[in-house]
Amino acid sequence: IPIIAGNWKMNHNLETGRAVAEAVARGAASYTKANKVEVVIAPSFVSIATISNALSSGSGSSDTVVQLAAQNMHWAENGAYTGDISPSMLLDVGCSHVILGHSERRHVFLESDELINHKVRSAIAHGLKPIVCIGEMLDEREANRTEDKVIFQLRAALIGVSAEQMSQVVIAYEPVWAIGTGKTASPEQAQEVHALIRAELVALYNEKVSGATRILYGGSVKPGNIGELIAQKDIDGALVGGASLTADSFLALVTATAQ
Ligand code: PEP
Repeated sequence: IPIIAGNWKMNHNLETGRAVAEAVARGAASYTKANKVEVVIAPSFVSIATISNALSSGSGSSDTVVQLAAQNMHWAENGAYTGDISPSMLLDVGCSHVILGHSERRHVFLESDELINHKVRSAIAHGLKPIVCIGEMLDEREANRTEDKVIFQLRAALIGVSAEQMSQVVIAYEPVWAIGTGKTASPEQAQEVHALIRAELVALYNEKVSGATRILYGGSVKPGNIGELIAQKDIDGALVGGASLTADSFLALVTATAQ
């Protein structure tokens, strides 16, 4: 089942976030209930509980119509980590997923591959599904180092993750030059990298794990380009920033994917 995941980043307050989430849940219900698509929303930490409550109490919507993700987490269970959030806190407020290793965490907050791997393992151990982001920068693409970079990040993020645990893991390929820039990778460019990731998952695990792992594309996905992206053999959904902020455009992505 394909996944459309919306990463709201540092956008939406309680009221606007809840309104968009409720509208998405209403509009997506027929597709998610028919198992045509999974919908995940990643609001800010402080809105997750409110949105979770609103979605599970709203008439006609169930909490499985829209699943909730955090945009980051700490790997530790608790402790002296001022300003951070633990995996069990995320479970507590209704998260099923957590985005890890987003390029903004890597580049703005200097998260290392080693730290991201800690977080991936902790998420899995707590029963949260990590959406693990990997992707090359523009200079790396131009120097023909896309494959090296993406495969390095993939391997590093999955150290210590077993074949069995891979059923909880979602991979998101997000070329950094395409995030928030309006420049989408062409469907062929994206498919090429998705196929490399798929092949590496065979090498790391086996055919079955590789075939069953959802690999999302992210980077300026819009209602106008989702169709050609999702039509690619190895693209199993999208991680979406800007176009996930309004219910209309989010639902256009969900509808195009479900159909
Ligand atoms: C993202 O934040 O993961 C992303 C892909 O953003 P955008 O869709 O705005 O490029």
